[in-house]
Amino acid sequence: GNKRTPLVAGNWKMHKTPAEAGNFVKLLRESVDQQGGSVEVIVCPPFPALAAVASKLAGSEIGWGAQNMHWEAKGAFTGEVSAPMLQAMGCHYVILGHSERRGHFGENDEVIRKKLTAAITCGLRPIFCLGEDLATREAGQAVEHCRKQLRAGLEGLELNQPLALVVAYEPIWAIGTGKTATAEDAVEVISALRQEIADMYGEEFASIMRILYGGSVSPESISSFMKEEMIDGVLVGGASLDIDKFTAIIQTT
Ligand code: PEP
Repeated sequence: GNKRTPLVAGNWKMHKTPAEAGNFVKLLRESVDQQGGSVEVIVCPPFPALAAVASKLAGSEIGWGAQNMHWEAKGAFTGEVSAPMLQAMGCHYVILGHSERRGHFGENDEVIRKKLTAAITCGLRPIFCLGEDLATREAGQAVEHCRKQLRAGLEGLELNQPLALVVAYEPIWAIGTGKTATAEDAVEVISALRQEIADMYGEEFASIMRILYGGSVSPESISSFMKEEMIDGVLVGGASLDIDKFTAIIQTT
């Protein structure tokens, strides 16, 4: 195995009320706090449920994050939430660059770069998502596409704390489809991303920074990814909404 602590992150997307979220993390806590620290676990609820989750997780090893934020600290941006607001409520992580944000809300590399910079500056740890669509994979361009997204998102960003950033390789064709990448394909992309990180921030940094796989991870598929030394955990969508599935994934990580 490698020296990086595996991370299991749940992306709840637009699911769960504050009460449902609070009940879920209460159960999650009972299961994870017993397991004792070999895996880092976080959940990323919708904004209205963050406070309930924060309060139920006080004193727990389990962390939590947001699913989005604006790049400005404050201002006339109706409907938006900023990094300092999240930081002030004790938020640890923020998902940025998710393919649903890119696809449904027009977020491009430049927007994602601004958000990554704002999050890091504020002390939030981004989970920076990237990945290719099916046509790009079939054209043999997956690795190059992901390298480009990585470089574009991190351009000009100074980083000296490798645990302050998490990258998640999420092939779009695998998200919410029940199809996973093979562990071999995930390792190919993740190895290329780690090399890119080494070129930008140095070998030592790249050996500590975590890179996750995401896309239809289930209790059945988790072990195929976690047996790979190159893969440092998973970003889980659908299966993270179900306490039995999510705890099974955590226990197998
Ligand atoms: C995700 O939303 O990041 C994700 C990987 O979703 P799912 O596990 O449902 O494919």
